[in-house]
Amino acid sequence: MDDLIKKAAEDIAAARQVTALTGAGISVESGIPPFRGKGGLWEKIDPMEYAHIDAFSRDPEKVWEVLIKGMKDILDTAEPNDAHKGLARLEKFGKLKTIITQNVDGLHQTAGSTDVIEFHGNFAWQRCTDCGDRCRTSDISMEKIPPRCHCGGIYRPDCVFFGEMIPPDALLRSRTLAMSCDVMLVMGTSAMVQPAAYMPVLARENGARVIEINPEPTPLTGHISDYIIQGSGGVVMNGIIARLEGLS
Ligand code: NAD
Ligand code: ZN
Repeated sequence: MDDLIKKAAEDIAAARQVTALTGAGISVESGIPPFRGKGGLWEKIDPMEYAHIDAFSRDPEKVWEVLIKGMKDILDTAEPNDAHKGLARLEKFGKLKTIITQNVDGLHQTAGSTDVIEFHGNFAWQRCTDCGDRCRTSDISMEKIPPRCHCGGIYRPDCVFFGEMIPPDALLRSRTLAMSCDVMLVMGTSAMVQPAAYMPVLARENGARVIEINPEPTPLTGHISDYIIQGSGGVVMNGIIARLEGLS
């Protein structure tokens, strides 16, 4: 692993512009379970039953009870880990400009990253399905499920459910960044959810080096990524940052 960390630090040092694509795995060390992979939520519940917009529309109480309530409990207190902090450091070094994330936990921003494209929205906010009023998730009372707005409408997280559209401006900007970066760091994503998984493909097609950081191989491994550093995000980022500091 050390050789690959050294190689990644050299690739980043030589790059003009680095873009990162992150997924649920980067927040595992912050105590937030991913969807797929070991210990993932999908081992326990069926995504289509709980994370699809049709499921929410059909039975908001059930989705709040099984999925959203638990997420709120975890996300209310989650803190960034060394992987988030490492990416924020890379921005300070002037190498990394933008993070494209599939996560809804807001931990990149808490760690200090200033340009984060959120493909799936942010769980920090709820909006009323009737009047559109917004309210902080941490301020919502859990006494009655599903929680309701003053108008009587049901709250939903300001996230993109399966079956809903990615915000078009997020998609457009990500495509441009994927095509213009010379290194793409792909961290903690199983690369199974489109269109996020297509960003490394675009980067590769446009000549970028694609570096994966993930304990497990993904469908990108060996095809799209130049190499994979098989380890947890925090440990690998600490290694890369230490190397970069040594190189500067
Ligand atoms: P995923 O759950 O499909 O895959 C997680 C990946 O992270 C796996 O490939 C796994 O091997 C890897 N991983 C596990 N531990 C890791 C570690 N310590 N360091 C680095 N990698 C690690 O995640 P996904 O590809 O992001 O897709 C799932 C969707 O679920 C996303 O679109 C996201 O919206 C949502 N989600 C978000 C959160 C969050 O905001 N933190 C949590 C769960 C799910
Ligand atoms: Zn309302």
